[in-house]
Amino acid sequence: MFDALVLGAGPAGLTAGIYLGRAKKSVLILDTGTVGGAPIMTHQVSNYPGIPDVPGYSLAFAMKKQAESFGCKIKGNAVIAGVSLDTPVKRLTLADGTEYEGKTLIIATGGTPRKLGIPKEEVFKGKGISYCATCDGDFFTDKEIVVIGGGNSALEEAVSLSKYASKITILHEFDHFQAFQAAVDEAKANPKLHYVMNVRVLEFIGDSRITGVAYERKETGERGVVEAAGAFVFIGYVPSSKLFEGMLDINDRGEIVADESTQTSLPGVYAAGDIRTKRIRQLTTAVADGTVAALYAIHHMESQPA
Ligand SMILES: Cc1cc2nc3c(=O)[nH]c(=O)nc-3n(C[C@H](O)[C@H](O)[C@H](O)COP(=O)(O)OP(=O)(O)OC[C@H]3O[C@@H](n4cnc5c(N)ncnc54)[C@H](O)[C@@H]3O)c2cc1C
Repeated sequence: MFDALVLGAGPAGLTAGIYLGRAKKSVLILDTGTVGGAPIMTHQVSNYPGIPDVPGYSLAFAMKKQAESFGCKIKGNAVIAGVSLDTPVKRLTLADGTEYEGKTLIIATGGTPRKLGIPKEEVFKGKGISYCATCDGDFFTDKEIVVIGGGNSALEEAVSLSKYASKITILHEFDHFQAFQAAVDEAKANPKLHYVMNVRVLEFIGDSRITGVAYERKETGERGVVEAAGAFVFIGYVPSSKLFEGMLDINDRGEIVADESTQTSLPGVYAAGDIRTKRIRQLTTAVADGTVAALYAIHHMESQPA
């Protein structure tokens, strides 16, 4: 029996682990993927207070080490078969039959990149289409590429990709960006970045790898193709909440309903970071949620009868 089970080893889950471990609570953090979460996919983080410029994976690794130094057990690539939340003791079952019990559960499962859902996207995934600049940017050194999206991630990752690619065309569905002004200014100052705004991306073109991206102008219906050796897609995320469907309140966007307290619809179960209902999804908001969830979880376990 652990004091706290934490699902997701991204910034929110690892921060919860740091606070719980420091309070001498026993913690198991399970992640279905690579420990570290979305920062692993982030080339450079420039807005984390106190660390002006840091590769995302370095920040994630430092958080993992810090959580482990406070005694957290952390396991990546876990295959979770089931979860049971309706009794005071929360239970997780892995695919190999291993069962874990916890007095509290913190859900910090974040989300996965949203797909465009257009022809050939699945076929060319890994053959020119990527959702991770850090992982794949280097493959496109001196090549022309496309970035699809117009939010903070799209603009920031396009700037980071300009270290490799010779030309980057940003295709965006609106005539304005949905990003912070600093990100827009930095992108606009970069001579390698070009823009095709207010378009619908129609399909990826190519035989064995992509050679271009077809689009349609929303106002006129005029069609065009940007020739490109690669396409990076940054159009938001899909919350990883499927496991909890029917157990917790989840809204129509798939976010687990929880306010600033991170308290979900079940006592002893908290939702922290990108997975919960909120407007701003950043590293700082995720680590803030991890802190709050840990402190509420401690309060919960200490107020329960022995
Ligand atoms: C490309 C990109 C660039 C970004 N750049 C910045 C930036 O520069 N600055 C900034 O502040 N923010 C940035 N962000 C946003 C920031 O990374 C996120 O807001 C933050 O990582 C959210 O943390 P989290 O812990 O809630 O979720 P995540 O980081 O998404 O971590 C969730 C973890 O949960 C795991 N998981 C999923 N399902 C399960 C399950 N069922 N059981 C167990 N584990 C599960 C996942 O494998 C993952 O490791 C960026 C995001 C992206 C995608």
